[in-house]
Amino acid sequence: MKLIKNLFKSLTLSELRKGLGVTGRHMIKTKVTVQYPEEKTPQSNRFRGIHALRRYPDGEERCIGCKLCEAVCPALAITIEAEPRADDGSRRTTLYEIDLFKCIYCGFCEEACPVDAIVETRIFEYHFENRGENILTKAKLLAIGDKYADQITEDLQVDAPFR
Ligand code: SF4
Ligand code: SF4
Repeated sequence: MKLIKNLFKSLTLSELRKGLGVTGRHMIKTKVTVQYPEEKTPQSNRFRGIHALRRYPDGEERCIGCKLCEAVCPALAITIEAEPRADDGSRRTTLYEIDLFKCIYCGFCEEACPVDAIVETRIFEYHFENRGENILTKAKLLAIGDKYADQITEDLQVDAPFR
């Protein structure tokens, strides 16, 4: 009986017609794929891309070296050394590094920071060419923060009532 059924299916090309039906239906449906990188999908203001360290409008770095981000990081990706500044005694980091090979982009560091110094940006298109470039140094983090300051501030404003 099964043999006759299969033979009938083969002779009437029912499987082929079924497959073409699926193709035809999807040809007229709204497409969910985009032609990346020419086209981009929308991003949330809470997107968690590469990190940045922020400054106050007067140029002073926000980070006070409290190490809360280092303590909360589940991947142990952050390394901080801090001490009081010689001139004004304010506590600042002498070393701030994030190992991007360890980071899982959970956003806990951003959540823990009391002064909104460390943030995750919308940038996800980056690569490394040399050994060691996976370590984001303080200088690199501040440079990213400076470059994307306007976008970061704008994104934080959206969540301002909930912070
Ligand atoms: S995003 Fe998460 S894993 Fe990455 S540095 Fe921050 S706390 Fe650590
Ligand atoms: S980035 Fe924020 S949480 Fe981390 S050490 Fe600096 S002030 Fe503290």
